[in-house]
Amino acid sequence: MSEKIYSTDSYARSMSASVMDTDREDRRVLLDRTVFYPGGGGQPHDVGALWVGDDELEVVRVTADKQGVWHWLEGDLPPAGTEVRGEIDWDNRYSLMRTHTAMHALCGVVWDRFQSPVTGGNMTPGEGRLDFDLPDWDASHKFPMEEELNAHLNKALEVQVAFLPREEADADPSLIRTKVSLLPPDLREVRVIDIVGLDRQADGGTHVHRTDEVGAVQIVKVESKGKGFRRIRLALAD
Ligand SMILES: [Zn+2]
Repeated sequence: MSEKIYSTDSYARSMSASVMDTDREDRRVLLDRTVFYPGGGGQPHDVGALWVGDDELEVVRVTADKQGVWHWLEGDLPPAGTEVRGEIDWDNRYSLMRTHTAMHALCGVVWDRFQSPVTGGNMTPGEGRLDFDLPDWDASHKFPMEEELNAHLNKALEVQVAFLPREEADADPSLIRTKVSLLPPDLREVRVIDIVGLDRQADGGTHVHRTDEVGAVQIVKVESKGKGFRRIRLALAD
């Protein structure tokens, strides 16, 4: 199993690691430790590069399975036992961290006002969308909600990461903000992201340390997608 450095230190950009396995068919390597986020929870996987000595191998995709975190490569595949250095595309990742944190803040604001669960979501660097079961919506809510969201972000709220035993997480249904729990049944420990005082939820992604790192956010659009289904699109101002 790979050590998931991104899970406890989202600001780590580089690492040294050993290749544990090489899959020649899919052109990917399994590493013993990594800063590369494999994607999930609406956040795309990282991109970047591995180095074997002076040889640079582009990381074009990252995935995770029971064995650990796989790095899909362009170029010659290093065999098991090779020592490598890895570095993520930090501008891309940091923008995703800010976007992801903004989306949690939006979850918190929508939850406070409507107690609406999330039914889906996705993001690219700088832009995100969240789907809500939100029957009580009308257009007059948009600007006040945007103001409230920015006021919270401005307060420089701390964003904490904690790991709870599964039983404790299951006993607190408010941790699952999605309409259906996406936690795998065999998961023993649940990672929780707490924007202190605003939003607390089970989550595997990477976030910033304090909400003022997000900067100003715009609610670009609220779309009606049928019976109570609203899609809220947000964007970072810079
Ligand atoms: Zn999230």
